Amino acid sequence: MRPPRRRLVAGNWKMHTTVAEAVGLAESIQAGLAALPGCEVVLLPPFTSLWAVGRRLAGDPRIQLGAQTMHAGPPGPHTGEIAAAMLVDLCTHVLLGHSERRREFGETDELIHRKLEAALTAGLLPIVAVGESQAEHDAGQTAEVVADQTRAALGGCSEDEAARCVMAYEPLWAIGTGRSASVADAVGAVDAIRDVLRSRFGPVADTIRILYGGSVDAGNASQMFAAPAIDGALVGGASLRPADFCAIVRAAGLAG
Ligand code: PEP
Repeated sequence: MRPPRRRLVAGNWKMHTTVAEAVGLAESIQAGLAALPGCEVVLLPPFTSLWAVGRRLAGDPRIQLGAQTMHAGPPGPHTGEIAAAMLVDLCTHVLLGHSERRREFGETDELIHRKLEAALTAGLLPIVAVGESQAEHDAGQTAEVVADQTRAALGGCSEDEAARCVMAYEPLWAIGTGRSASVADAVGAVDAIRDVLRSRFGPVADTIRILYGGSVDAGNASQMFAAPAIDGALVGGASLRPADFCAIVRAAGLAG
């Protein structure tokens, strides 16, 4: 039987949308969702649109908002950065450890851990992305890589803190490539993440959602969600297309 974890679908808009486009996209998604979507929905607009999208969606209990990253430290002299304390008025979630942040901005496991601690302290709910490169995948190192990244990100967390996190398995070679992982590969990696969570946090581990991300679209989402181990999706490209994103949310809702 599937453990009692409510599925979650998050849309990562990355560096796309002007404020007007973001509000329009949010409105289209809002219009396309069922009255009760049957899963949690989190939108991750760019910082510049968080306030406007939040205002537009205010009072809609079906949709939560998140930021795509944050600084690890408290407010201070860090030009161009955004602290957790500056986000709590704007959103509930924050995405940490996305491979684009690791690759383009040199974010290390250690930094991601510090960001996670800062997010939790501020009251944000972290969505923590982990995943292996193509070379690591080909070398059969997926389980080891995602286990190490999970340990590093959540090391030192209490059980209560871990329970506020969402994990996302995102193989780097599947992000934005149109080449999703097979369900079997995704489940294998998700199981490796869950094993780490169980050994570290005991029964609380079974309450933590683990999403799959990497070229999820309206065509392959229901296959992924048919696997009881997969608790939802982190969606990039398809989250910019309201009809596709809403179809993914519907598939998650139907999967229960
Ligand atoms: C992502 O960026 O987290 C992602 C999964 O992108 P895409 O869905 O486009 O592969």
